Amino acid sequence: MGKIDGFLKIDRQLPNSRNTDDRIKDSKEIYEPFEESKTRDQAARCMDCGVPFCHNGCPLGNQIPEFNDAVFENDWERAIQVLLSTNNFPEFTGRICPAPCEASCVLSINKPAVTIEHIEKSVIEKAFEMGWIKPQIPKQRTGRKIAIIGSGPAGLAAAAQLNKTGHSVTVYEKDDRIGGLLRYGIPDFKMEKWVLDRRLEIMKEEGIEFITNVEAGKDISAVELRNEFDAILLCTGSIVPRDLPIPGRKLEGIHYAMEYLTQQNKRVAGDKIDKSEELLADNKHVIVIGGGDTGSDCVGTANRQGAKSVAQLQYRTKPSETRGKSNPWPEWPMTLTTSSSHEEGCDRNWSILTKEFVGDESGKVTGLKIVELEWVSKSEYIEIPGSEKVLPCDLAMLAIGYAHPKKEGLLEYLGVDLDLRGNVKVSGWQTNVPGVFAAGDVHRGQSLVVWAISEGREAAKAIEEYILGESKLEAKDSSEMLMS
Ligand SMILES: Cc1cc2nc3c(=O)[nH]c(=O)nc-3n(C[C@H](O)[C@H](O)[C@H](O)COP(=O)(O)OP(=O)(O)OC[C@H]3O[C@@H](n4cnc5c(N)ncnc54)[C@H](O)[C@@H]3O)c2cc1C
Repeated sequence: MGKIDGFLKIDRQLPNSRNTDDRIKDSKEIYEPFEESKTRDQAARCMDCGVPFCHNGCPLGNQIPEFNDAVFENDWERAIQVLLSTNNFPEFTGRICPAPCEASCVLSINKPAVTIEHIEKSVIEKAFEMGWIKPQIPKQRTGRKIAIIGSGPAGLAAAAQLNKTGHSVTVYEKDDRIGGLLRYGIPDFKMEKWVLDRRLEIMKEEGIEFITNVEAGKDISAVELRNEFDAILLCTGSIVPRDLPIPGRKLEGIHYAMEYLTQQNKRVAGDKIDKSEELLADNKHVIVIGGGDTGSDCVGTANRQGAKSVAQLQYRTKPSETRGKSNPWPEWPMTLTTSSSHEEGCDRNWSILTKEFVGDESGKVTGLKIVELEWVSKSEYIEIPGSEKVLPCDLAMLAIGYAHPKKEGLLEYLGVDLDLRGNVKVSGWQTNVPGVFAAGDVHRGQSLVVWAISEGREAAKAIEEYILGESKLEAKDSSEMLMS
């Protein structure tokens, strides 16, 4: 695959990012254009490794050496065919996937991995540019009706798959726009929303019906859904955020990350935000509590809004820069990651315990009392005596993850069983209620876009088998995979 000695002669190279001072002035994606010939050189680094672990590293089972080879050969049409055979939305994963495929690339044992994610994005963007991505309208309809609840990547992938084989798909979304966390979680500087809208236009032309501002379980009942549709797929996400119940939590200026990110996504989309509800970081000392993607997105947003300072606090110890012995290739590396938002300015702190929010007489937060920790084992720590201090804080964002899906309402009315973590339990993607299926974060717990797409595809296949007795839909059975 690729060029026989490409990996020996060509170094890993990615598009440059725009200068940090410039890019924080807008919400546009951060990468500069990259010449096509350079992308082909990068594809040439894919070596004939024999057993391509990247296939398995990718939850979708993307046929990576095959599309790399096609790109190297300048056969972009073949590349897009290979890519679309396993992934409905490479334009999303090519931008925001943490790329488990690259972590398991054989080349990455002792050299930097092939730039798989960048190549994926290049292939799909080339295909759009060439006009190869057109609505695929099914020639015949089966007369079977499927309701998909929730329009995040899991719901969208399942809708695309089920519509492809002629079923009539209706997607219900409680928000005012389609896209789930692709729309209201992930900021534009990671993926501009025209990318999502472009795909949605195609899906609409393909015949998928999207209904917004309808909360299933409230605006349409579980009984109505069961009566009207042959099958229901729950893709409602894991949306109950974890709280930080420390003294001072009720002070003004402490918010869940998603309140902040949703509002900013609406603002960037041109919506008017009511003055009384405005959440802005301008000229404020901002503290982001939690170190994942969500926290990093708050950092990037706060810098774009002109924060006076941005600090990010993590409870766990600082990860090492390289893999430890207990975390060998091809596992997901539990190493230090620095996001583009961190590069834009952020005081990152690890091994920190938040003790108390402090405020002024008007009830506004002014500081956060913290203490440094020394971890004595994986699960035990001691507070370092004398390390207590109060950090200035006018705006705090809680980005410490999501506990589980919302149980009240639809899940309760349908009577679906939950697992020990509070997520929807499935067997073969079907819940305990016949004809009701679940995929994405609602089943898996908070995860990744690529997993949501993968689960949406698999659930679509299971639904087709349920209603027709068999299915020709492609899907990788990833039930044995460990990465999350
Ligand atoms: C801030 C943030 C940044 C992230 N960044 C990344 C990233 O860079 N890369 C990555 O791979 N992953 C990222 N993730 C994770 C990723 O976004 C999720 O794993 C993925 O979106 C889950 O997809 P889903 O379709 O299961 O659910 P969601 O995207 O959560 O969509 C669920 C949808 O269901 C709707 N809904 C819920 N209940 C109802 C109801 N009763 N009726 C109708 N509609 C309903 C919701 O409004 C929502 O639109 C991020 C997550 C967050 C929060």
